[in-house]
Amino acid sequence: MEKTVQLYEGKAKKVYATEDPDKVIVSYKDDATAFDGSKRGTILGKGAINNRMTNYLMQILEKNGIPTHYVEELNDRETVVKRVSIVPLEVIIRNLSAGSFAKRYGVEEGLVFEAPTLEFSYKNDDLHDPLINEYHALALHLATREELSQITAMAFKINEILKDYFLQLNVKLVDFKLEFGRLSNGSLVLADEISPDTCRFWDATTNEKLDKDRFRRDLGGVEDAYQEMMRRVLGE
Ligand code: UDP
Repeated sequence: MEKTVQLYEGKAKKVYATEDPDKVIVSYKDDATAFDGSKRGTILGKGAINNRMTNYLMQILEKNGIPTHYVEELNDRETVVKRVSIVPLEVIIRNLSAGSFAKRYGVEEGLVFEAPTLEFSYKNDDLHDPLINEYHALALHLATREELSQITAMAFKINEILKDYFLQLNVKLVDFKLEFGRLSNGSLVLADEISPDTCRFWDATTNEKLDKDRFRRDLGGVEDAYQEMMRRVLGE
């Protein structure tokens, strides 16, 4: 399958049309941004790692009954995915306190929750992705009631699958962000990526951060952290 015209360029990926109206090609970049794009940089090798890790995890999820947009990996950076219209919600699942949760509620990072939490943000850069609840999402027509309940059920199921999977790799899945898309027939699939850009991964023994927080917080060892996660997931 070949790229035709570029449809979209985001912060971390480009999306191209193909000859098939129901498929697009995503191309992952090494560009990194944080804090609403105000911090910018490059993480060498990130595009290939995020592409390959996402595809590997999407296939595990598919095997466990989660429908995804994944079709076929073309090369290190590029993947064919089903064309979807993205539901403009960022769905965040947390198992431990960290990041904006710790800040918003004035708690330390690393508190282990009795049960995972879920929150929605309205995916809107101009508004800085504000936190919203289900009533707001309905009022704004971002998704239907049925879609919200399906998204919630899928997100918690994805968490159970991934949490167990990463624990085998001696990694705590602290929190992560998901996006869902609608196929042309209206059915929902998991879309976007699952990578150190969109998840917090802590080494289960040392709590060392193995994700984008190393870039966000200038902790150093950014490339090494991405490579270490790649090694644990794909054995290389
Ligand atoms: N996240 C993301 N994209 C965003 C916001 C958050 O992928 O635009 C991920 C982030 O990597 C983390 C989780 O969602 O794994 C929760 O992020 P949080 O709300 O704590 O925000 P942050 O502290 O990253 O601003």
